Amino acid sequence: MKIKFWLFCVGIILTLVCSSWGFFAHKTINRLAVFTLPEPIIGFYKQNIDFITEQATAPDKRRYSDPNEAPRHYIDLDHYELTLPLDTMPLFWKEAVEKFTEDTLKAYGIVPWIVNWKIRELTQAFKEVNKERILRLSADIGHYISDAHVPLHTSENYDGQMTNQKGIHGFWESRLPELFYTDYDFFVGTAEYLDSPFYNVWKAVKESFNARDSVLGFERELNIKFPEDKKYALVAKGATMIKTYSEEYSKAYHQMLNNMVERRFCASIKMVGSIWYTCWVNAGQPSLQGMSDTPLTDEQQKKLSAEEEQYKNGKIIGRPEN
Ligand SMILES: [Zn+2]
Repeated sequence: MKIKFWLFCVGIILTLVCSSWGFFAHKTINRLAVFTLPEPIIGFYKQNIDFITEQATAPDKRRYSDPNEAPRHYIDLDHYELTLPLDTMPLFWKEAVEKFTEDTLKAYGIVPWIVNWKIRELTQAFKEVNKERILRLSADIGHYISDAHVPLHTSENYDGQMTNQKGIHGFWESRLPELFYTDYDFFVGTAEYLDSPFYNVWKAVKESFNARDSVLGFERELNIKFPEDKKYALVAKGATMIKTYSEEYSKAYHQMLNNMVERRFCASIKMVGSIWYTCWVNAGQPSLQGMSDTPLTDEQQKKLSAEEEQYKNGKIIGRPEN
């Protein structure tokens, strides 16, 4: 079972790497989350796995067309408090709005709440057995949950811009997985029913928040030891050469982080599967048979293409990272 799963993963990873590296993490997490699902819903998700994989990046693409999208991807918790336990920020939206106002919350990010709202919508979509909504919401939830697992998505210093570490965002979430994903063990077991998924999401956010000091601090330490010409290297990206963190520097950082990126990747996969599964159970475990082969309508397809187009040609609205 484990070997089979692994071989499958390797195939998936190679396919993904050959297509779109920039969105590698989101696509991999959504795709592998499908394989955590139990019967009978795994069949439906497998039949739609390409959509779930491709649409893992839709929320990032929407940031080029929807001004409300950016804050859904992060929460700058260190704007409110600097260490755990989080006793300044109320967990529930209503109380958080009362305490800080909606404008402030939106200015510093709302990722835990957007996941919670999408969970309700996905549960409703399952109740209605609405294929288009189930797939879109599943893909979106996968994206936002993955973002909640990234430590720098919980900090105002999200790209090290406040501490002279600009570029660390992509270093952690793109460059490190690009170099070391072949060593990752993506086997995370079966999705689990979550009694209170909202608390699990907050737990993930808190873990991310707790790890942000290491993410920034280790890189600062390393930066002192490495001269500039050893820190960066020119590497081929398609037909062009780009300046990025050298392999030597990346390896040293990877070792200091002690598999943190892998752990956050795997935790994301497990939680995405578990939340999809939980929504389906809470919707009364509806049968999903018979709607697997319904294609998207012209209108739905047009909307997707328009978003894709705007993303390719447009300028991001709001914060550039995240
Ligand atoms: Zn995002």
